[in-house]
Amino acid sequence: MEKSCKNYVIAIDGEAGTGKSTLAKNIAQKYGIVYLDTGAMYRCVTLTCIDKGIEPEDIEKINEVLKDITISFKKEGDKTIVICNGKDVTEEIRTPRVDSYVAKFAAIKEVRDKMTPLQRQMGKTTKVVMEGRDIGTVVFPDADVKIYLDCSEEERANRRYKQNLEKGIECTYEEVLTNIKERHKLETQRDIAPLTVAKDARYIDTTHLGLQEVEDLVVSIIREKVEL
Ligand code: C5P
Repeated sequence: MEKSCKNYVIAIDGEAGTGKSTLAKNIAQKYGIVYLDTGAMYRCVTLTCIDKGIEPEDIEKINEVLKDITISFKKEGDKTIVICNGKDVTEEIRTPRVDSYVAKFAAIKEVRDKMTPLQRQMGKTTKVVMEGRDIGTVVFPDADVKIYLDCSEEERANRRYKQNLEKGIECTYEEVLTNIKERHKLETQRDIAPLTVAKDARYIDTTHLGLQEVEDLVVSIIREKVEL
């Protein structure tokens, strides 16, 4: 197969705690590719709405938020800063408060109709590794490389729980597991862009794999398709 060395999109989809973010960030950093965390965008919408006391049912108010919202990413060393409406929200969008609402806001048609074109725009002009839930199915159905990461719910909760503790976020393992299960239900059963494995994606179960093993495997899959 002919390899593409022009601009390309590497789509990495999967649920919370499958290791997508770490993987996508590492690949982007090592190979000088732009990294786009689409979950952060849904988190920005969610944070803005809950800060204003807007419920996921209040489409009129959500539309007002969507009309004016600005979201951008800034590289600072090896960190990516998320800026929403001019404010650094990098930490705040990862709190359990946002975790517990984000899948509800992300299921709303108006929200996805605003985010999807922004993501397409960001991925159009460069080499990008984009992670989310619907990148290989909806945002870039023609992505050059599609990876789908999976992992057992218990192991995903375990990973997320440890990450939270490292960041000083207070929570119990049970709370994290409950949130993971709720998000799974909402994300796989929603009407628009439900989480599903694209038919041409490479499926990897990471439950019993270390980060480096997953990265090596994914890099070899990417190299079959594009010039890294
Ligand atoms: O990846 P992360 O857990 O940060 O994503 C937050 C939420 O945003 C997910 O739980 C999901 O509901 C939503 N999301 C989405 N489509 C994407 C990325 C994230 O619906 N492409």
